[in-house]
Amino acid sequence: MEADTIMEGSICSDVEGRLEGACRDIYGKSLGEADDAQLYNCLLQVTKDLAVSKPRITGDKKVYYISAEFLIGKLLSNNLINLGIYDDVKKILAKYGKDITGIEETESEPSLGNGGLGRLAACFLDSIATLGLPGDGIGLNYHFGLFRQVFEDRLQKAVPDTWLGDRSWLNRTGTGFDVCFGDLKVRSVLYDIDVIGYENGVNKLHLFDIESVDESIVKKGITFDKEDIRKNLTLFLYPDDSDEAGNLLRIYQQYFMVSNGAQLILKDLRDRGIDLHDMDKHVVIQINDTHPTMVIPELIRLLTADRHMTMDEAIAVVSKTCAYTNHTILAEALEKWPLEYLEKVVPDLVPIIRELDKRVRAKYTDEKVWIIDEDDLVHMAHIDIHYGFSVNGVAALHTEILKQTELNCFYRIYPDKFNNKTNGITFRRWLMSCNPELASLISDSIGDDWKKDASKLEKLMDHTGNKSTVEKLLAVKNTKKEQLCEYINEHEGIELNKDSIFDIQIKRMHEYKRQQMNALYIIHKYLEIKSGVRPSRPITFIFGAKAAPAYVIAQDIIHLILCLQEIVNNDPDVSPYMKVVMVENYNVTYAEKLIPACDISEQISLASKEASGTGNMKFMLNGAVTLGTMDGANVEIHDLVGDDNIYVFGKDSDTVIDLYAKQSYVSKDYYKKSKVIKEAVDYITDKAVLRAGHRENLERLQKELLNKDWFMTLLDLEEYIAVKDKALSDYEDRAAWGRKMLTNVARAGFFSSDRTIAEYNKDIWHLQ
Ligand SMILES: *Cc1c(COP(=O)(O)O)cnc(C)c1O
Repeated sequence: MEADTIMEGSICSDVEGRLEGACRDIYGKSLGEADDAQLYNCLLQVTKDLAVSKPRITGDKKVYYISAEFLIGKLLSNNLINLGIYDDVKKILAKYGKDITGIEETESEPSLGNGGLGRLAACFLDSIATLGLPGDGIGLNYHFGLFRQVFEDRLQKAVPDTWLGDRSWLNRTGTGFDVCFGDLKVRSVLYDIDVIGYENGVNKLHLFDIESVDESIVKKGITFDKEDIRKNLTLFLYPDDSDEAGNLLRIYQQYFMVSNGAQLILKDLRDRGIDLHDMDKHVVIQINDTHPTMVIPELIRLLTADRHMTMDEAIAVVSKTCAYTNHTILAEALEKWPLEYLEKVVPDLVPIIRELDKRVRAKYTDEKVWIIDEDDLVHMAHIDIHYGFSVNGVAALHTEILKQTELNCFYRIYPDKFNNKTNGITFRRWLMSCNPELASLISDSIGDDWKKDASKLEKLMDHTGNKSTVEKLLAVKNTKKEQLCEYINEHEGIELNKDSIFDIQIKRMHEYKRQQMNALYIIHKYLEIKSGVRPSRPITFIFGAKAAPAYVIAQDIIHLILCLQEIVNNDPDVSPYMKVVMVENYNVTYAEKLIPACDISEQISLASKEASGTGNMKFMLNGAVTLGTMDGANVEIHDLVGDDNIYVFGKDSDTVIDLYAKQSYVSKDYYKKSKVIKEAVDYITDKAVLRAGHRENLERLQKELLNKDWFMTLLDLEEYIAVKDKALSDYEDRAAWGRKMLTNVARAGFFSSDRTIAEYNKDIWHLQ
């Protein structure tokens, strides 16, 4: 006990000393004189120095996780937690009258991802390091990232996200490689970010960039010359691909990422003196979705260059090294590049891709499994499946759909390659860092060991009958709601009622996720209140979502929600009973504020379409109750918490898949049949909405719902309304609701990404 206290004291004074030193070195000031932004830079420096002093995780075999996205979020708090000095730093800052929350506000969030897939990659890096496994990330350093979302005239406007300041978590390395796109040769430069495991050593996130990139070529909004590759290569994640130049740029980016990655991996192996014929015994490459697929032909190209290996040898060893994760069954998201484009950008890969295709054709007559189809489109996922040793889905239902439907022709060839790895989230960020109040309550109730073994949260089940624990959990929720009200007031200028029910849907804007169904519920509720039927408690509907700039209907849904926000919040008959807020520029930082404050978690995708979801897991862990369809990991949440602790509605995936197969869904039929549906859909172009918004957007959205509705919004709308109303009325039994909340927290341990990574290691990577 005494030794412990002395230890803590010495760490504390060491950190304080380092912090004072940094402040003097950088600003020539004492800590007391520094402002929040300056203190942030001092903490950044000290944390980076401490990371360097941590051991690099090593081992005989190492995983490289290649991904176009790493949505890592702000890093200061998480790194302090993982270094075990978060509380010390808080104490030191308090001595100078400073608060870490204010300092954190000055950190900018790296804009290196788009949504769940990129956030998953970030959670995985945290867990790989935390489990002490050797594993690095490989990606790109996008200067302006995805884009920053601003609302103007109730429309989304995309502007460059200038997240890269003078000081950042990036460390410039001396490493760089030549990458050839036919005649165009460029030189890369590698930046590394240290990934600090929770009370463990460090791995690295390798981000490649190009010296000649020129931020000044970005003109109005996010437009720029798509053909000036030397200047534009690493400006944006997912540049607009609505024309040929945009498609070519995406291929340039993908090849730049994988060629650098492949060269880095081979260099590491050669430095360790390993015979490349044995590559698969020392390296495994996890391919996150199809964006990094070209790493397979690129490795084969490099290994066969200078006749180092025969084609047979290279294909054999690469096929034993690469593993593929599938993230979606949406046809439009499975990449197919025209051979003609690949010939323009990566002519040296085309002979290899043709050879890979030739070998497939020689073995299989079923054209559906060929790599190059009759239209000369190259199916990237097919390369991964034939020439990788593992294909995994990201939730139990998703993997079953891959095996039985989408990828069935491959499953029949390679049944043993297919496996499931249900996604997970890091509890360091999504509980300890974003909800320290709840983390303390949990530790007070069941001790601390859940921090290293999330399955221990199960012990909370013993407390569901404990009135005081349940009341404390409700009190934490209220605290987080108050904090969110303050944050939203500051950032959106909207005042919310902390005693209302917080119903939250935050995720990328997409028709399959069905934010439009939630919007129709809001219209329904609005009309109901107008007619004099009031809810027993006020409701706050919160949205956060970016839409792909070229995705027209997604923009229209944002527009509708912003119009509803305007109408509802300014209607004195209604606003005491409901409010609508769509927060601007939803990102990881915002998620960390919203999720702990949520009462009802909206997970309402059309069954079969959401591969897993991870937002659903974050909400559950923070004591929100899910309102959802039987889709993705919602199915597993339901299995874990049982019928009484989740609100399920909607047609199941078998029914939906059957409707698609028979093409028998007709949205108009549902509109005609139901008065409630008709009223809600009609209201989209009501005079009041047209006054608030733009006829073009609103009419287009309404027509889409009536004449197409590809993701079957109207199919589930009536049941959604009924089940949501039931959840809202159940909320009034506060004790019963508190028990539901506690059950959700207690059963969330399964969704720790530590569990997911342990499974990847056991079944796919075999690192130790
Ligand atoms: C977790 C997360 C997502 C994924 O959310 P889903 O609801 O699973 O789609 C997207 N964006 C951010 C910022 C996240 O933190």
